[in-house]
Amino acid sequence: MTWIAPITPFVTGYLVLVALMIGSFINWAAARRPPGESIVHPRSHCRACGRQLNSLDLLPVVGYLVRRGRCATCGTEIGAAAPAVEAVAGMSMLASILWLGLWPGAAMGLCLVAAWGVAVVSVSARRFSPAEEAR
Ligand SMILES: [Zn+2]
Repeated sequence: MTWIAPITPFVTGYLVLVALMIGSFINWAAARRPPGESIVHPRSHCRACGRQLNSLDLLPVVGYLVRRGRCATCGTEIGAAAPAVEAVAGMSMLASILWLGLWPGAAMGLCLVAAWGVAVVSVSARRFSPAEEAR
């Protein structure tokens, strides 16, 4: 597979970007668990001031770093959980590719990111489960 070597860094970068975006999706899926809340409305917003998040805010990890972990409008701390979830997804993909090569590293990375997503979403779903609240 030597012919593929020159494009490997680009493909790796692309796959890590995809993993970061999946990490962002994991946050989205995990955050909207409270029963009765629609998955479409309202759009992603600051929980303190209600400002709708723009594309800079929503950039995985980078948005958090640019905003220094705070809402651009009201300055409320966002919390490091979301960028941490995204970073773990991105690092899982990068580590798998560096360890196993582009193939099967990319497949391994996707499996790790998927498992990470299931873990994060199920933990946060449990936190909001009505059965737990009733006890
Ligand atoms: Zn705000």
